[in-house]
Formats: sequence, structure tokens, C-alpha cells
Amino acid sequence: MDATVSYLDQLIAGGLLIPTGVDGLYGRSGVFEDVIVRFEGLVTAEGTQDAPEVIRFPPAMTRRQLETSGYMKSFPQLAGTVHSFCGGDHDHMSLLQALSKGEDWTAGQQATEIALTPAACYPIYPMVAAQGPLPPDGRLFDVQSYCFRHEPSPDPARMQLFRMREYVRLGTAAQVTAFREMWVERARQMITALELPFDVVPANDPFFGRAGKMMKVNQREQGLKLEMVIPVANPQPTACLSFNYHQDHFAHTWGVRLADGGPAHTACVGFGLERIALALFRHHGFDPADWPAGVRRTLWG
Ligand code: ATP
Ligand code: ZN
Repeated sequence: MDATVSYLDQLIAGGLLIPTGVDGLYGRSGVFEDVIVRFEGLVTAEGTQDAPEVIRFPPAMTRRQLETSGYMKSFPQLAGTVHSFCGGDHDHMSLLQALSKGEDWTAGQQATEIALTPAACYPIYPMVAAQGPLPPDGRLFDVQSYCFRHEPSPDPARMQLFRMREYVRLGTAAQVTAFREMWVERARQMITALELPFDVVPANDPFFGRAGKMMKVNQREQGLKLEMVIPVANPQPTACLSFNYHQDHFAHTWGVRLADGGPAHTACVGFGLERIALALFRHHGFDPADWPAGVRRTLWG
């Protein structure tokens, strides 16, 4: 059994995660959730000085938005769409027959207008574009959502449904790059206060296929994605925070405009909430009552 599997087993034995039989789909205990609530409180405390607009979407977006976002071009392997039964009595009979015979009953399911959100910031760009040009100072949002990615894995830090808290900045290139630099610095201070070892490294998104190879290289070479990595379950440290600069990609995708009509630039900082909780449990133990005093003060005040 490798180290990854055994950390998952320990989390399950310790009651922090509840298995479902599907890799990457877990229940969370009250202790686990409390750590996430406290960490989010820390994020809010850091971010509130910038007066973000707080928005919460359900963990879904329209299928049309997913299509327009280009997600199926870049990450078809991760996308999740919601399908439902839309037939009549006859189709229902076939469904029940297939079910009773243990056969595949899903062939008749039809795609609904809903897709699962792959990253918490995704619903923000079409919303802002529809609201018209940005004010001169740009806009800043605080978002949080459960996100779905079809990447089943025995690594407890690679879930299929997990939460991402994000700040999303839209404005000029100078405004959004300053935002990103500021958050790299703030994150360094926050994770230091939590007494976790970390590094900030250039990274790339898992773009699909042969065409994706060039996109990965470009993203890295241009320094568009940085990750804060912390050892969690694997020998290699895990990305627990991401700092993404999209340049004017979403201006071209959605029509997000500056006050003067030019294309807006965007950036986001994403906190992988489960990964951060898992890192805290890994480094400080499964019982928060026993965590170092400084870490407890940072989280529980
Ligand atoms: P990875 O390279 O590990 O697949 P990513 O680069 O795709 O992650 P982002 O798209 O930047 O991740 O997502 C923002 C944050 O969400 C990540 O920094 C990470 O903390 C968290 N995250 C991403 N994928 C998962 C997952 N499968 N399970 C739990 N958290 C995740
Ligand atoms: Zn984002």
C-alpha cells in the first residue's frame, strides 16, 4: 500500500472523511468542517479590507456557459454535465427493466441545461459581462463553491467534489497583476501563521491532449499560473492555493470590457479548502485541540 492510500485510510479511520465507495467523493466530519469554516474566516479577515462584492452561486452553471467558456476544448476530461430522465411511460418501463436486470439504464438520460461548476470563478465572468463595462477601479469578487472535476483518485487531496474559495479581480493589466502579487504575499503570511511548510512555484493547468501540451508550456513560460504547494499525502507537495493571471482571455470569451471599452484583464486567487484542511491535519494531527498554540490562535482567535 503506498503512502497516499494509507493517509486516506487514516483519515477515514479517524472519522474525518466518510467513504462512499467512489474515489474522490467523501463526507466530511464536523471537525473537518469546523477547520474549513475557521480557515475561511481567516481568508475573509484578510480580504475584507479590499471591500469585495460577495457572491455565491450554487455548484452549477448553465451548460451554455460551460460551452462558451471553452472548457470542453481545454479540459473535456474533467467536465461534468447533469443528465436527467426526460422520457414518457414507455421509456420509463425500459429504464426499470434495465435497472432490474442490472444493465446500463443511463443510455436514455438526456443532457439538461445544467453543468457542474469546475472552478468557483467561472460564473462570475458572464455575470460581469452582462452587467456592462467595468468602473475605472475595476471590480473585485469574493466567491466560494463546491466544484466538480472528474478525476477519481485514491489521493485524498484529489477529490471529485471539493470547495474553492476565490477572490477574482477584473480591471486593467496593472490592476490585476498588482492584485495577484499582493495575494501571493498575503498567502505566504497566512500559511506561515498556520505553521505549514510551503513553496510558491510556476504551474500549468491540465490542458487536454496533444494541443494542450503547447498551452501548458506557454502558461508556464509566461508565468500565468503560480501555485502554493504544501506536502499533503504525496511525496510531491500538493497545490493548495493557485494564483492565476488570465490576461484578457475572458474579455475575448465573454466580452468583459473596461470603462474605456478596451478588453479587461482578469486574475483570481483560489484557496483549495479541503487541501488546506488536509495539510493542517497532516502536519498538526487529527485533533485540533492538540494543534500548536499559534495555529489555534490564528484559526480560533
Ligand atoms: P492540480 O494541478 O492539482 O490538478 P489545478 O492546478 O487544476 O490543481 P486549480 O484549477 O488552480 O487547480 O484550482 C484551484 C485550487 O483548487 C487548487 O489550488 C487546489 O487547491 C484546489 N483543487 C484543484 N483540484 C482539486 C481536487 N481535485 N481536489 C481538491 N482540491 C482541488
Ligand atoms: Zn479562478
